[in-house]
Amino acid sequence: MLFTGRIKIPQFQLPVLNDTTLTLSPTAKYLGVEIDTKLSWKINIEKRKNKAYTTYYTCKKIVNKNWGLKPSIIMWMYTAVIRPILTYGALVWWAALNKQYIIRKLNGIQRAACAGVTGAIRSCPTDSLNVILHQLPMDIFIQKTAAIAAIRIKELGGWNQQNYGHSVILNKLTINKSDYILPKLDFNRHFQVRIPSRREWRRGSIAEEDTTSVYTDGSKMDCGVGTGVFSADLGISLSIQNHGNIHKATIFTDSQAALLALSSPMTNSSIVHNCKRALSSIKDKLQLNLIWVPGHRNIFGNEKADELAKAGAFLNESEAELIPSPLGSIKGEINRQFQQVANNRWKNITKCVITKQLWPTYDRKRTNDLLNRSRKNIYRITATTTGHWPLGEHASKMGMPYNDICRGCGVAGNKETIFHFLCECPALAQIRHKALGIQQAPNLEWISTKSISGISSFIETSKWFEREGET
Ligand SMILES: [Zn+2]
Repeated sequence: MLFTGRIKIPQFQLPVLNDTTLTLSPTAKYLGVEIDTKLSWKINIEKRKNKAYTTYYTCKKIVNKNWGLKPSIIMWMYTAVIRPILTYGALVWWAALNKQYIIRKLNGIQRAACAGVTGAIRSCPTDSLNVILHQLPMDIFIQKTAAIAAIRIKELGGWNQQNYGHSVILNKLTINKSDYILPKLDFNRHFQVRIPSRREWRRGSIAEEDTTSVYTDGSKMDCGVGTGVFSADLGISLSIQNHGNIHKATIFTDSQAALLALSSPMTNSSIVHNCKRALSSIKDKLQLNLIWVPGHRNIFGNEKADELAKAGAFLNESEAELIPSPLGSIKGEINRQFQQVANNRWKNITKCVITKQLWPTYDRKRTNDLLNRSRKNIYRITATTTGHWPLGEHASKMGMPYNDICRGCGVAGNKETIFHFLCECPALAQIRHKALGIQQAPNLEWISTKSISGISSFIETSKWFEREGET
């Protein structure tokens, strides 16, 4: 392959290997990524897209409009099986997303999946479906995937930061340092970890009698991070090794996550790894037990440690920054930042007027509430909350037969719009009151504060979709 940005290629000799002159190839596949001579990634994206489409339509065969998998499972299938096909190797080619036609190509498949889940009609905009189903627009999602991959490589020391090309992905992000290390196996654990049930705790006395008890807790607040260590047996102390007369110690913590991380032989966190080694290294001096204590249960030592941790969070502001975060929380932070980008984009979009009023922001809970309903419910809620329904005014825009005036109240001049249906129509006042707690709603934003089940119950009892014209 010849990589060049030039249009006119100067004369050169092709290499010869074993008496055969090698020829130039326009593309090459390396580790599953298709590389082209101009590094435009067009061929790669085209292939990824085709592969994802094939998989999607293969999966879709097991789903029908009236039977098949639950919509939430289809959504999962898209995010867990199909989308990773699209985003494979995103770190090297995400910069190709500066072209609109490439973004459209990639959005196409997500749109197909979202439309498959909701049964939305063809005119329904992709942006609306993305918000309703809590999917980042494809270009943002791909950048997020690239950023997470970059972080992993960076933390392992293999990242070459440049100010051009694909490596600028991390420049836009503000993230803490992580404690990520390559997964390490360690079977030499010289301490016991125990997670007693809440019932055992209620029965009292978990630690053995001749053991020294130490309660620990951590606290993270806006002002900083704090640690609390409390022991009635020792006086408050951070240094266990200084007490030469201890032979058996029990450390209590209310963090099950910490105990599970310490008891697992494998870890990818340097903090966990160092902690395990430190705990094991004192094996000659004392026998150590780590026991879980239920939080906020007025267990004296634990409450004391909690107080100390909270107090500690207010100290050492400058040092708080130095504590590396686990990779998981850095990923969470990256997720949050890209979600913010998507939210801002949604806020500034000028189209999708009705959806913007009824789904003002990405809302995971609302999406889950929607996805847990029946296929028919999901279709009707989507149709109503996007304004893309086969009824009233919108139907006439699509050239379908419709009633000029509202079918409910029949008042001349009352057109069958989403606003009239959801907020205003006097014929539905009773139903509205029962489902949404109001006879006439002031506007669509007010409706957006109501639960999905309330909105659904209003749509269903109005029998609007059953009267006529449901496709
Ligand atoms: Zn009406």
